[in-house]
Amino acid sequence: RKNFIMAPGPTPVPPEVLLAGAKETIHHRTPQFLKIIEQTLEEAKYLFQTSNRVYVFVSSGTGAMEAAVTNLVNPGEKAIVVVSGKFGERWKEICQAYGINVVEIALEWGEAVTPEQIEKALKEHPDAKVIFTTHSETSTGTVIDLEAIAKLTKDTDKILVTDAVSSLVAEPLKMDEWGVDVVVSGSQKGVMMPPGLAFIVLNKKAWEVVLKNKCPKYYFDLRYYDENYPDNPWTPAVNMIYMLNQSIKMIKEEGIENIWNRHRILGEATRSAVKALGLELFSKRPGNVVTAVTAPQGIDPKKVTKIMRDKYGVTIAGGQEHLANKIFRIAHLGYVSIFDTITAISALEFTLHELGYPVTFGKGVAAAMEVFNREG
Ligand code: PMP
Repeated sequence: RKNFIMAPGPTPVPPEVLLAGAKETIHHRTPQFLKIIEQTLEEAKYLFQTSNRVYVFVSSGTGAMEAAVTNLVNPGEKAIVVVSGKFGERWKEICQAYGINVVEIALEWGEAVTPEQIEKALKEHPDAKVIFTTHSETSTGTVIDLEAIAKLTKDTDKILVTDAVSSLVAEPLKMDEWGVDVVVSGSQKGVMMPPGLAFIVLNKKAWEVVLKNKCPKYYFDLRYYDENYPDNPWTPAVNMIYMLNQSIKMIKEEGIENIWNRHRILGEATRSAVKALGLELFSKRPGNVVTAVTAPQGIDPKKVTKIMRDKYGVTIAGGQEHLANKIFRIAHLGYVSIFDTITAISALEFTLHELGYPVTFGKGVAAAMEVFNREG
């Protein structure tokens, strides 16, 4: 059976990327490897639209989140954390694990924080130096207006950190131009790689805070990564660096603006399809990464994901935590074309029909095709 991953990570990996990993593992302190990692990290700046160094960890995305917290805030200090989904909650949990005093901007899941809400929190808590946000909240399919938020912190001493684990390469993100101070991400989403690498990028303002930081840490102490750059202070994931090199090459070939646009169109088509099927979107500010759909009355979203995967080979994601019985999520992330989306929508139509929801076959697919046709 043929499988389709339409979940927001891990995402499909192109064969060229997989093959790039299937090469001899060389020693990581050799001049050959140093040349490869140096070139790869240089090229990786393009993904973030930055001229700052990209540091790579052998970890999942959460490792880079932990690195951001432990390198920027000291235990006992205040930090503002936006929580409107599972990954905002993760920022909060990491901060709490290190004894950081969390000022939470708590929103309903599915809402997007506004610049006004951030501005208010910054005014009320002038002693909070760092603010943690989630660019694309994968658990709810919601994107924040990061550009507008960065305008509030850009010319101040506040450090704006964003989790771009699911948004990198899928949502427009211009780190330098917008003035985002710290961006973290991972390999298994828009970057079209398997899970296993995480990234962190910091600008000069953030780096000055890092140099003064005293929070206990070791593996993720960025000073070691900087001293050893472009090599890794520990053993880097040699074969994954080969893969990263290849995926960046493919991203450059397509062009990041074109990729953002492809994701935008896939998102619009998916939203249009589910609406045509009479379903409701869960997110108040949906974006290019994943479409969260509220399961209709009487339909169990866990059954939707199960039938789609077991019967049709289409893996979508369910809802997390209290949303488990409420939503399902269809991603359009990474190495995905219009035909992957059409496949997912047609599998959804079959599945909903099987669960007793009234479906006119092809209605969702037609709506998606109309979007693709209109967008060229
Ligand atoms: N943040 C966001 C927005 C994510 O989507 C994810 C992964 N779903 C993470 C953080 C955590 O990444 P990982 O599972 O790679 O640790």
